[in-house]
Amino acid sequence: MTVQSLSMALIAAFDRAADRVLISQDDRELTGHQLCAAMDDLALRLIALGVAPGDRVAVQSPKSLDLVMLYLGCLRLGAVYLPLNDAYRADEVGYFLRDAGPSLFICAPADEAALVASACIPTAVTVRTLGAVGEGSWLQATPSDVALPPPPASPDDLAAIVYTSGTTGRSKGAMLSQRNLLANARDLAEVWGISADDRLLHALPLYHIHGLFIAMHPLLLAGGRIDLLPAFDADAVLQRLDDATVFMGVPTHYTRLLASPGLTREATANVRLFVSGSAPLTPATFTAFAERTGHDILERYGMTECGIICSNPLDGPRLPGAVGQPLPGYRVRIAGGAATGVLEVRGDSLFGGYWQMPEKTREEFRDDGYFITGDIASIDDDGVVRIVGRDKDMIISGGLNIYPIEIETLLEAMAEIGDVAVVGVPHADFGEAVLAVVCLRAGANLTGPEIIDRLRPHLAGFKLPKAVVFAPALPRNAMGKVQKAELRRVHAGQFDLCA
Ligand code: AMP
Repeated sequence: MTVQSLSMALIAAFDRAADRVLISQDDRELTGHQLCAAMDDLALRLIALGVAPGDRVAVQSPKSLDLVMLYLGCLRLGAVYLPLNDAYRADEVGYFLRDAGPSLFICAPADEAALVASACIPTAVTVRTLGAVGEGSWLQATPSDVALPPPPASPDDLAAIVYTSGTTGRSKGAMLSQRNLLANARDLAEVWGISADDRLLHALPLYHIHGLFIAMHPLLLAGGRIDLLPAFDADAVLQRLDDATVFMGVPTHYTRLLASPGLTREATANVRLFVSGSAPLTPATFTAFAERTGHDILERYGMTECGIICSNPLDGPRLPGAVGQPLPGYRVRIAGGAATGVLEVRGDSLFGGYWQMPEKTREEFRDDGYFITGDIASIDDDGVVRIVGRDKDMIISGGLNIYPIEIETLLEAMAEIGDVAVVGVPHADFGEAVLAVVCLRAGANLTGPEIIDRLRPHLAGFKLPKAVVFAPALPRNAMGKVQKAELRRVHAGQFDLCA
């Protein structure tokens, strides 16, 4: 029988690698056998807290091996994992909890009191805590003594809901099934040649599909080994690369590595594959990395709703500025058959829709099942895809997506501000940085730092404007729409000094 659920496939893979270390952090190492036992134990703890298969478990905890285990415990039980960026503040967390209606919310011990005091947690939600070194009330839960039900076998069961920022200000929960996640993991293991001999140095966050699914699943399925770092730090990465065969990062990670004199051919000699994604990798970074290390970074393209869609080849030329060809499970086309236009995709790992948003889901799919990505792309005669822009005015800063509307709404609510637009402008370190262009009301007095301070309690740090510029008026077209392209052009040099 072909295994069609990620949960079953992972358990089978852990069984095959019973005596091998599959994941580690510092000096803590877990073999396949230990992973299986821990998954059962954690699933029973979830049951003891009232979580049933199909229930959502929302998690906002610092990265750690115990956080990975919590995710695997949810997969074992068939609970739907809902990762939240640990930078989100109470207002933001409250929205996700109200929208997703989880039965359990696990947060960092240090955040619990403030979150509870802010009343952002609905009363029906059980709260437990998990910190960076396993501390907190989650791991103190006693496992239930009921018989553990079998792991989810149906490919259609939901495995995760991952929220993406919404163009209209409302984040949308992308529903990812067991089939979606397994299909992408298998495709990636195949096209990137991931095997039991691989060792991945994992420096990505675990609240995003890049670190949680793309980096981990192929290694776990293939019986390779994952070494977790608590966060990206160029020095820590460079110290550990001699053990690694695979490294995955966002473009900002690569520019930071390039800024370190420790990035050399010797330091990277053991690595066979560097992968970049989540934001465009500039040809300049690609070339500088190749010159310094001898490695051509493999750029791939994907999104929360789809997993990875396109990848440069493992063998064969990796083209700077291109994201390669579609994975075996995907077909791609340009809307309306134009040479350059909105990329539409169809494939096995394409999500099932947005959580409780049937209208929004319908709007983003064509009748023949293609998903409208919102990215502007071209496809050449060899089927190589190039992403040339974005349909929406989303900002990607340090690999994280930011929708201006969310920040604009908060700024517009400030009495001193008459008009405002938020745009992304080039930034040497972050790729793009958030810039707020503000028109003050007559007689009003407010400085840039004061504006940022007022936003701080409401927004994750990565969404805060890196600068505020003041203007007498915003450029608007005949329809009254702010001409953001014009603002991006005028302020393109704003962060030159940061280079
Ligand atoms: P997310 O859902 O957070 O993974 O963000 C998905 C978006 O990131 C895509 O729609 C693209 O706009 C962007 N993206 C991901 N990978 C790349 C890439 N290699 N080049 C350009 N944009 C990318």
